[in-house]
Amino acid sequence: MDFEWTADHLRLRHGAVEFAASRLADGVARRDREGDFSREAWQACAEFGLQGLLVPEEWNGAGQDLLSAVAVFEGIGYGARDNGLVFSVAAHAASCEGPLCAFGSEAQKRTWLPGLADGSVIGATAITEPDSGSHALGLATTAVPRADGWLLNGSKTFVTNAPVADLFVVYARTGPGFGGITCLLAPRDTAGLIVGPPIEKMGLRTSPMSQVYLDDCWLPSSAVVGGVGSGAMIFSQVMEVERLLVMAPAIGVMQRTLERCVAHARQRKVGSVPIGKHQAIAHRIADMELELEAARLLLYRAAWQRVRHGTATRESALAKLAVSEAYVEVCRSAVQVFGGYGYTVEYELERELRDALAATLYVGTSEIQRNLIAGLRGLG
Ligand SMILES: Cc1cc2nc3c(=O)[nH]c(=O)nc-3n(C[C@H](O)[C@H](O)[C@H](O)COP(=O)(O)OP(=O)(O)OC[C@H]3O[C@@H](n4cnc5c(N)ncnc54)[C@H](O)[C@@H]3O)c2cc1C
Repeated sequence: MDFEWTADHLRLRHGAVEFAASRLADGVARRDREGDFSREAWQACAEFGLQGLLVPEEWNGAGQDLLSAVAVFEGIGYGARDNGLVFSVAAHAASCEGPLCAFGSEAQKRTWLPGLADGSVIGATAITEPDSGSHALGLATTAVPRADGWLLNGSKTFVTNAPVADLFVVYARTGPGFGGITCLLAPRDTAGLIVGPPIEKMGLRTSPMSQVYLDDCWLPSSAVVGGVGSGAMIFSQVMEVERLLVMAPAIGVMQRTLERCVAHARQRKVGSVPIGKHQAIAHRIADMELELEAARLLLYRAAWQRVRHGTATRESALAKLAVSEAYVEVCRSAVQVFGGYGYTVEYELERELRDALAATLYVGTSEIQRNLIAGLRGLG
């Protein structure tokens, strides 16, 4: 057993912190207030290599593995402060590039991966529907054969990046049951693909989101990713990676938040006593550290498992559950440690908490992770 990152991993993470702190951390409060997605910051991420991290070198990417990507995204989370933008990039990389890299045809890869990797093409993934929600594979959007292609009808909701996306990975029903779901690629300008107005959110406000309607939307046969009926398998594979990639920045955010709390607890005096001298505050910070470190280990272990053994269903569900719940708790504690200052916009902790609250919902809620973990034990 070896708990040490390699020198290469450390170098990657350090570079990510420096890049994010210098290029992504300014103006976040304004962008958050205005719900503004920054194309400039998106492009800076692409130039740094973030969108192309997991894309093979032959398609303009860096061809890194998931462990390296976790190290980089953790560093980005630590430095960036723009959690919404980082979430948008992670979603693009995991759920749009992911299925293409693993299951796309040669032509699909050639057409889309170079642009997705260099940031000129923004990806979105549409699986959630108003009536299926957490039961993602209960989706009702239909794709019926029509003129050497497929005619799609249905509506998708909560689609991250949709307002700015150029390419949509859409999951639709081509038949009954698990084997009746198909994954298709739909460019934004496809007739019958309609992007709704942006959905206003509590947090992650710099990550745009909207509904997507498919109204007699025709896609050619060549739009199918990985074969008709393989959508559910693709989705579950993609989710294993996405749970880890979108949660990696949270480790960085928690680390940064913990460090801020330690510094504040030492420096803030009420009367003549630093608040960190009160056991109530000191223990709260010790609990924050415990939550962070336990979550961190589960995340690293799951990424290691996936790289080493190619599958990490249980491990990635445990990691997603632990990191997201710790993320909320750590950010809530930070507001408490900072008292009234923590509640002000200026201290940027209320934003961290609003951003964190989404983590127990996206990529499968905490309840769904528990169902998955218990289900693997034959329970529930
Ligand atoms: C910030 C953000 C980004 C997102 N991005 C995307 C995206 O890019 N693409 C996309 O397709 N979707 C996206 N989603 C949607 C997300 O996947 C869903 O919100 C999630 O799956 C939950 O579905 P729902 O919101 O309909 O909640 P519901 O399914 O209505 O759930 C409501 C509550 O009931 C619980 N519940 C439901 N079913 C069960 C069950 N069987 N057992 C126990 N508890 C249950 C849930 O855990 C939750 O607490 C995003 C969501 C958020 C918040």
